[in-house]
Amino acid sequence: MRKFWRCHVCNDIHYGIFPPELCPTCKVEFGYIEVSSQEARKIMSISETTMSKEDFVAAIHRFTKMREFNVNPDQERVEMLTGGVFTCEQSQGLKYCPCRMIERDFESDLSLICPCNFLQHDTYKDKPDGECWCGLFVKKETT
Ligand code: SF4
Repeated sequence: MRKFWRCHVCNDIHYGIFPPELCPTCKVEFGYIEVSSQEARKIMSISETTMSKEDFVAAIHRFTKMREFNVNPDQERVEMLTGGVFTCEQSQGLKYCPCRMIERDFESDLSLICPCNFLQHDTYKDKPDGECWCGLFVKKETT
């Protein structure tokens, strides 16, 4: 079961079954202690930030660097899908997939935050030119 962990040096918060051995923020080794979700959320809300759609699009482009997929080159589709992602954030609080329904169960709905783990979707893995369920990400062409 995943838990929240706090770096005792820099207050970096990690959510997972185990804490990282190396803090990615301050680089201290074995620095994490388990904390309650309430404590973790309080710490994270100290530096609450918002992200524009443009920043999100830039972030997903950076995410594809060195990976086997790209953001869909069809800009109209990307505009429509990222618009849907932001509508979900406004109405549901997180950037959920614009093409699928959340169950209103925090744990299981985490798998629907965009970008999701689409590498396991049939639409992606079973097709040579596969794409994520909605088509926001597409496999890179191999030459
Ligand atoms: S299927 Fe595509 S658009 Fe939907 S959450 Fe996953 S990556 Fe985002």
